[in-house]
Amino acid sequence: MKIVTFSHNGKISSGYLEKDEVVVCGDGVNVVQSLIERGGAGIASWLDYGSNKAPRVNLADVRLLSPIPEPRRDLFCIGKNYYAHAEEFHASGFDSSGAEAIPLAPIIFTKATTSVVGPDAMVLGSLDYTNTVDYEGELGVIIGSKAFQVSKVDAYSKVFGYVVINDVTSRELQRHHNQWVIGKGLDTFCPMGPYIVTADEVDDVTALELETRINGEVRQKSQIANLIFDIPTLIRTITRTMTLLPGDIIATGTPDGVGVGFNPPKYLKKGDKMSVSITGLGELNNVIG
Ligand code: MG
Repeated sequence: MKIVTFSHNGKISSGYLEKDEVVVCGDGVNVVQSLIERGGAGIASWLDYGSNKAPRVNLADVRLLSPIPEPRRDLFCIGKNYYAHAEEFHASGFDSSGAEAIPLAPIIFTKATTSVVGPDAMVLGSLDYTNTVDYEGELGVIIGSKAFQVSKVDAYSKVFGYVVINDVTSRELQRHHNQWVIGKGLDTFCPMGPYIVTADEVDDVTALELETRINGEVRQKSQIANLIFDIPTLIRTITRTMTLLPGDIIATGTPDGVGVGFNPPKYLKKGDKMSVSITGLGELNNVIG
């Protein structure tokens, strides 16, 4: 199931895609969060409603929002989680995370809920007064059920689905403030979408390929299999000491090819078009404003 949240005639609603149509399953900003919390019964009730009296609208007539427009908690994000990116970021001089290029344990930080925007939304690069805005195409993992002390073997059973995320970053604020909360949490700096694909529709998430283009030029290209710390390891690491909740989002890290990896760095400027796509998960497009 491909799950969307959208605005149509001034109203926010959620539903799922069926060809060129959206099957509308509920109104408000918390519909998808509630669906996730209800687990398998929630999906079953959506399908039942969808095959009966659910209204439908043309996908072309709606404006897609982030599938979870207002997450309950800040996103969990993983730093330096692809080998080639860890090397390029460490060499850039902007790495305040430690002495090693390749981390010995997952680097985990959070990204504010207020940074979340949807597909085609403008990312307010003008908020970064240091003019060092950079992109990071990433796979997002949506947690489906309460998870505490989950083993690697059981980790995928806690996953509701997957989504494309762009972990937009101010490199100078990231370096200057040492911890990454400020440099990663600027309003509008977390585009997400276009939809959540439920885990049952993804055979092997490690086989998916991520690609980021800036103004049409391919900058990042990698298989999810290249993660240093894979999805089970991330879930195991976080839940070893703290509970993950339904609707929590883990941004798993970005491959090499970010702007700060170039010499000189290729920072984003007003009007630049960012496009992140992952096999089967769609394409997330945003413009810098
Ligand atoms: Mg990132």
